[in-house]
Amino acid sequence: MSSPNAALPGAPHLARDAQGRLMLEGCDLDALARQHGTPLYVYSSASIAGALAAYQRGLAGQPHLLCYAVKANSNLGVLRLLAGLGAGFDIVSRGELERVLTVTGGDASRVVFSGVGKTAQDMQRALEVGVACFNVESEAELELLAQVAAGCGHVAPVSLRINPHVDPKTHPYISTGLKSNKFGIAHDRALAVYQRASQLPGLRVVGIDCHIGSQITQSDPFLEALDRLLDLVDALAQAGIAIHHVDIGGGLGIQYADETPPAADALLRQVIERLHARGHGSKSLWLEPGRSLVGNAGVLLTQVQYVKPGETKNFCIVDAAMNDLLRPALYEAWMQITECVAPPASAPRQRMDVVGPVCESGDWLGRERDLAVQAGDTLAVLSAGAYGMVMASNYNTRARAAEVLVKGDGHRVVRRREQLADLWAHELPLE
Ligand SMILES: *Cc1c(COP(=O)(O)O)cnc(C)c1O
Repeated sequence: MSSPNAALPGAPHLARDAQGRLMLEGCDLDALARQHGTPLYVYSSASIAGALAAYQRGLAGQPHLLCYAVKANSNLGVLRLLAGLGAGFDIVSRGELERVLTVTGGDASRVVFSGVGKTAQDMQRALEVGVACFNVESEAELELLAQVAAGCGHVAPVSLRINPHVDPKTHPYISTGLKSNKFGIAHDRALAVYQRASQLPGLRVVGIDCHIGSQITQSDPFLEALDRLLDLVDALAQAGIAIHHVDIGGGLGIQYADETPPAADALLRQVIERLHARGHGSKSLWLEPGRSLVGNAGVLLTQVQYVKPGETKNFCIVDAAMNDLLRPALYEAWMQITECVAPPASAPRQRMDVVGPVCESGDWLGRERDLAVQAGDTLAVLSAGAYGMVMASNYNTRARAAEVLVKGDGHRVVRRREQLADLWAHELPLE
């Protein structure tokens, strides 16, 4: 898998220089690891900007709102970059709302609020700052939102998240549009719930939305979901309920290994074509991409601690673990792992499992990888920009990693490494 010329799947601004050193844009990753320590997340501004530009190209000429799904990578540096490039935001908590307000100077007019468990307090705050839309996920939530809005003299713009019963053909843990999921309102209840919404004071029906899953590598599930939404839009029009925007959620996949997801602009051409073909070309098209904007932009750097021959297999024990990067342990996700400095062609490769120091057998980052490494070397786990740092924990009382954003040959630390004392700062020892 990982020869000195290892494939560097997905990442557009990652390459080896003539000396075999792995560079992200103009920055030497091994040097960044040595300067800032490991584990270290590093993101490429150019990759994020390039991924956003593909969406913007696809949307040109169509009324739209592109909302980056903050949960994929919520670092303020990343949010600031995206806000500066014109993105809106999809949030799923009050914490994410406050992060966004920090980078937009308090402007929530391009924010959509998703999530199945919004509290009255969440709603109140979102109404005060004026989010663009609440994506409502249940009838009970709709009633509470109406009550909260009426109580504070606001009108809540609402969309109903419809469960379109489309199979996204992805991992069951990240598939959200099937009948058995906790998300959304059943397609056959939708008309009745919209009728209720249109009668409740404190609410203004503005849109319809769905989000069918994540890491989707085909166009068809998106087009099928759009068709299911448009069927409802037609039925709603007949019932006298006008829909202003159609939000098809996020979920476009990225390349971790040999996946071949459609390019965002190509997918959007198909989506917009379908929208027009069905007579809804004047509707605003809203999107909530997360992974596809940041996933391929990031790497996790980690240092080899030990190379340990085992009884049946060899282990490469590194200083990053499942608490830093959960995807392999949680989804058995395959992520490319490669040496930051290419070993000499003559160096013997060994097949090994790349594992962390956490006391769990599930603590692995990669299995059966062919690497030529020794203690002290830096490895890069690729395509770690989405659902990496945001899922990090302090399990085993491990401090969370630092984060760096590179631009050209410059870089900025956008999150300092946690100090150990931070980890128990909120604890109250018994006297
Ligand atoms: C997670 C999520 C997204 C983003 O999904 P990606 O697969 O990262 O694009 C968008 N919308 C909602 C409601 C989500 O929960």
